Amino acid sequence: LTVLESRIEFREIASGVWAVVTSLAESGGGPNSGFIVAGEEVIVIDSLVTPNLARELLRRIEAFTGKQPTFLVNTHSHGDHVIGNEVFAPPATVIAHEDIREILLREGRSIIDTIARLRRDLSEELKETRIVAPSITYRGRMALCFGARRVELINWGDAHSRGDTVVYLPQERVLYSGDLLFNHIFPPIYGSSAGWVRALEQIEGMDIKVIVPGHGFLGGKREITDLKNCLIELRRQIRMCYERSLSKEEAISEIDMGTYRQWPHQERLALAIDQLYKEFREAS
Ligand SMILES: [Zn+2]
Repeated sequence: LTVLESRIEFREIASGVWAVVTSLAESGGGPNSGFIVAGEEVIVIDSLVTPNLARELLRRIEAFTGKQPTFLVNTHSHGDHVIGNEVFAPPATVIAHEDIREILLREGRSIIDTIARLRRDLSEELKETRIVAPSITYRGRMALCFGARRVELINWGDAHSRGDTVVYLPQERVLYSGDLLFNHIFPPIYGSSAGWVRALEQIEGMDIKVIVPGHGFLGGKREITDLKNCLIELRRQIRMCYERSLSKEEAISEIDMGTYRQWPHQERLALAIDQLYKEFREAS
C-alpha cells in the first residue's frame, strides 16, 4: 500500500470542529488528525506521517475553511504524528508539551529514520524531511481562547509515551485523545502502563460526547473503558509472569488476552512485556 492509496476521511463532528480519520493498513487505522476553526484561527492537531499526506491535509483544510492554519498542536513525539510539521510551520506556530520540544530537538532525525525503516515505501520521500519542533510549550495544562471557542491542552504524565497531550473542547464535549486511545487496536506502550490507566480514568470522569483517537475510528468513553480494561488485564497477566521469572518468550506463550486477541497488532504484546517488566523492576 502506498500513501496515495490511503484513505483520508474528513468529518465535522461539531460546528467548525473536524476529525481527520486515516486508514493506513499498516497501522490498523490512523494516525488521525483534526482541526478546529475559531474565528480567524485554525488549530490543527497532529500533522500525519509524511509531508505529502500533510500537504493533502493542508490543501483540504484551506478548501473547507478558506483559511491558513495558525497553530499546530502535537499530541506527542511519535513520527506518525509530527513528521508533517514542516508543511504547516511556518507560518503556523507549533504548540506541544515541554518534553516534546526536547525530544524532537534531540531525536528528530532518528524519529524519521525509525518510520523510514518501518515503511520502506516512504524512505525516499522522508530523506529530505526535518521535524519542526514546537516553539510554544506548556506543562500540566494550558488553554487557548479565541472568542467563544475554548481549547484546552492537558497532560497527566507519561502514559502511551512521554509528554502525551489531549486536546479538549469543553463546550463542544469533544476530545482529541492523541494516542491515549487506540480504538480497539492493541496498544503499544512506550511511556508507563500505570500512567496510561490513570490518564484513561481521568478521561472517564470528563464530560465527552465524541473522541477522536490517535488510531482507529471515532469513539467515546466506552472505547476508553475498553482500552483501560485491556491495559489492566495486560498488567495483571504480565505481573504474574514477572513474579514467576518467565522469559519474554515463555510469557508470550503463557498470556491469554481473551477477547482482546481480536484487536489488530497482537505482535505488540512483546513490547508490552519488555515495558512492564521494566516498570515492575523499577517499582521493586
Ligand atoms: Zn504514538
